[in-house]
Amino acid sequence: MATTAGRRAIVIGGSIGGLFAANLLHRRGWDVRVYDRVPGSLESRGTGIAHHPETEAILARAGVQDEHAPGVRVEGRVAVGPDGTILAHAHYPQYVTAWGRVFNPLRLAFPAERMRTGMELRALDQDAEGVTAHFADGSSATAELLVGADGFRSAVRAAVAPDVVPIYCGYVGWRGLVEESVFSPAFAPVFAQFTFLFPGHGEFIGYPIPGLNDSAEPGRRRYNFLWYYPLDAGAPLDDLLTDAAGTRHAYSIPPGLLRPAHGAAVKADAAARLPEPYAEAVRRAEGFLVQPIYELESPAMGFGRVALLGDAAFTARPHVGVGVLKAAEDAEALAEALDEAPVPAALAAYGARRLPHCRAAVAVSRHLGGFIERRLPRPDADPALGLTLPRLLALSGRPVARDAYGNAD
Ligand SMILES: Cc1cc2nc3c(=O)[nH]c(=O)nc-3n(C[C@H](O)[C@H](O)[C@H](O)COP(=O)(O)OP(=O)(O)OC[C@H]3O[C@@H](n4cnc5c(N)ncnc54)[C@H](O)[C@@H]3O)c2cc1C
Repeated sequence: MATTAGRRAIVIGGSIGGLFAANLLHRRGWDVRVYDRVPGSLESRGTGIAHHPETEAILARAGVQDEHAPGVRVEGRVAVGPDGTILAHAHYPQYVTAWGRVFNPLRLAFPAERMRTGMELRALDQDAEGVTAHFADGSSATAELLVGADGFRSAVRAAVAPDVVPIYCGYVGWRGLVEESVFSPAFAPVFAQFTFLFPGHGEFIGYPIPGLNDSAEPGRRRYNFLWYYPLDAGAPLDDLLTDAAGTRHAYSIPPGLLRPAHGAAVKADAAARLPEPYAEAVRRAEGFLVQPIYELESPAMGFGRVALLGDAAFTARPHVGVGVLKAAEDAEALAEALDEAPVPAALAAYGARRLPHCRAAVAVSRHLGGFIERRLPRPDADPALGLTLPRLLALSGRPVARDAYGNAD
């Protein structure tokens, strides 16, 4: 076993993946510094996520102690037809929760003085002795390990694997949140369901999540929806990502800059295509988060002294609901590999262990989103896809087996 005390690590990205890695390494005695590009705090951002017992277990091992329920419990999933009738259901008790419900305790568990915000990585270089990160403010930091947890547009990945870029999947996700207290009584029977609908060659998913202050108490919760919408690359995507001042944003557009006409069009579409009561959720949303859907696969996860993890290494489409768990498992596998060997050998072992899992997550998410990409009216419209409604309900929003889709290498 390699001694970890006093070994220095730089983590680029202070979101969920970076904070899992930072906490796990810090608890092993590493001297860890986290740098995030965004000034100030990320706490208030994010919407709903599927939560898994595996994530809870890694949170505990990362030093997060929390007695509260991890979110709102749902008993299963239902697929609903255009007239509101239930087409299929699957029993699968699980918690669904808010992004902040995982992020906030991770952030609190890590010593604040070791985290620096407003620090954008611009470049890095490495040799046999160490790795140096160079930041936009002209400063730099050196360590024996650098962890790239800087998301799907990773600057770390651009430095070590410049050919690996996110691929647009041909559709966007519109995310919205609505306070439980503002719904009409007609919404009450469906509020606590984990629901799937297939309006207009897309997919609408809705479920309850805790309210602000993490409350899972009835009346104080929120409803989270995610509406996957086909949108061609080129002019239609350019238009969505262009703000009122005419700036075309790369990859995604900050919520405050989305042109109001786009939100109004989604609300009109909800009225036309979604059965009540689900149309009410979209109508009542006060703002949207638009997420063009990308996927990304790296050929390796260790590059000398540089490790990639979470979305920076592999970005699965959100259908599988494992972005947070995958990042947590990457971080733990990395920390365990570093317990056993010097950095370059540990990173090779880390990649060998995690690549099959990450490839499987991307493959399953591609399977689940394939009908939207192909503009089919329903998941089961083309039997060749093998995506019956029971299968879609069984695979969505839950951990992926590492040998899914022939990845058992
Ligand atoms: C604000 C936010 C809200 C999210 N909300 C949801 C949600 O509601 N539902 C959901 O399913 N998933 C959400 N995600 C994605 C989810 O967190 C990830 O899929 C998963 O946690 C793994 O992400 P990650 O930590 O690898 O990368 P990310 O969560 O993407 O984090 C990357 C971090 O790196 C930082 N960064 C990027 N470039 C640089 C740079 N050059 N230098 C320094 N820092 C840099 C970013 O500021 C960010 O904090 C959200 C992510 C973010 C950042």
